[in-house]
Amino acid sequence: GVHGVRLDSGTVQRPGPVALLLQDVTEARRVEAVRRDFVANVGHELKTPVGALALLAEAIEGAADDPEAVQRFAGRIAHEADRLGRLVRELIDLSRLQGGEPLPELLPVEVDRVLAEAVDRTRTAARAKKLDIVVGGQPGLRVRGVENQLATAVTNLLANAVAYSEGESRIAVAARSRSGFAEITVTDSGIGIPRADRHRIFERFYRVDQSRASSTGGTGLGLAIVKHVASNHGGSVTVWSEEGLGSTFTLRIPLAEPADHPMSPPAVVP
Ligand code: ADP
Repeated sequence: GVHGVRLDSGTVQRPGPVALLLQDVTEARRVEAVRRDFVANVGHELKTPVGALALLAEAIEGAADDPEAVQRFAGRIAHEADRLGRLVRELIDLSRLQGGEPLPELLPVEVDRVLAEAVDRTRTAARAKKLDIVVGGQPGLRVRGVENQLATAVTNLLANAVAYSEGESRIAVAARSRSGFAEITVTDSGIGIPRADRHRIFERFYRVDQSRASSTGGTGLGLAIVKHVASNHGGSVTVWSEEGLGSTFTLRIPLAEPADHPMSPPAVVP
């Protein structure tokens, strides 16, 4: 977009035509650089599981007379294939959300159903870590949106709360109505996010700590997807976090009107 230039006196001056042209060129270069980075990142992210699969296939060949080893390697192949599958699914989600496809019609969506669906999808992972997911807040809220996109967004927030929490703690999901928006919060008492990283975690492929992220099998795309879902709905996502105490993510989505009929979607934000 075009921004005014703020002078010391506090007045705002619009850039002239030459400045505008330069700004367009700079913007085009920036978009191109982002695209190149993205392709490089995808390549890098795909190389790791593909390399692991090749090594595991070799290992299985060499262990043909050791059934236990074959079992173990087969398990790891399944794990890597899983990871690869998730990465590809998330890449497809992200490219759709980024405006590759027109948005479906925004319809009234029951927030309770979105929360229930997201909890359903993460319950097994939570149980495995002895984490309790508690749903609270205000029942009966309706937003205008695309139900499966909203469910994906809340699922990603919940999956992170599970991934970055230690056992035997509690994760709270709640919805409240606030000045025309439904505020959906996901709160954990997990490891938290260092201040220096907080503004970058919504970027594609950004992870706070490679080693800690790879042990959780993360792709670095989950929050980028949440951010796109939020902006496609005319909403937002923000985070509060304190290292060692936990994190709260807040997703704001416009409420549906009381007697809502189908509305046309807002413009897609790149
Ligand atoms: P990932 O697949 O790595 O989880 P995300 O885009 O979902 O990717 O998140 C980006 C990074 O933000 C994560 O790698 C993690 O470091 C940090 N993060 C996200 N959610 C949480 C959370 N609830 N608690 C602590 N750190 C989090």
